[in-house]
Amino acid sequence: MSDCLFCKIISGEIPSSKVYEDDICLAFNDIDPQAPVHFLVIPKTHIGSVAEVNECNSAVVAHIFEVIAKIAREKGVESYRVVSNIGEQAGQSVPHLHFHVLSGRDMTWPPG
Ligand code: AMP
Ligand code: ZN
Repeated sequence: MSDCLFCKIISGEIPSSKVYEDDICLAFNDIDPQAPVHFLVIPKTHIGSVAEVNECNSAVVAHIFEVIAKIAREKGVESYRVVSNIGEQAGQSVPHLHFHVLSGRDMTWPPG
């Protein structure tokens, strides 16, 4: 999608601090980290949010969760939180599916 911030990160038009990349997804550090470890994992195809996941594209999401587990293992991170905000009220600011991975500090529940 030409006007999408994360599509521009995927194409390299906007730089990112890359953590991991393969044919299906890209992981990069969040520009405004909310924890000592805070990276995002996004599909390379434009999917608006979890609300647009369906039987045609859910394999991408399964792959992303495999990648999250792999990156966490490689970073030696044992306790972490995976978050995806859907829609404005939940705090989604970029309309391209992304999973936040946060770690390295105590966290509260429920999230605010
Ligand atoms: P959300 O608010 O859940 O949609 O998450 C979007 C996230 O993208 C926020 O945590 C932002 O800090 C992050 N973000 C926005 N622009 C960039 C960028 N250029 N590079 C890395 N992370 C970004
Ligand atoms: Zn996009």
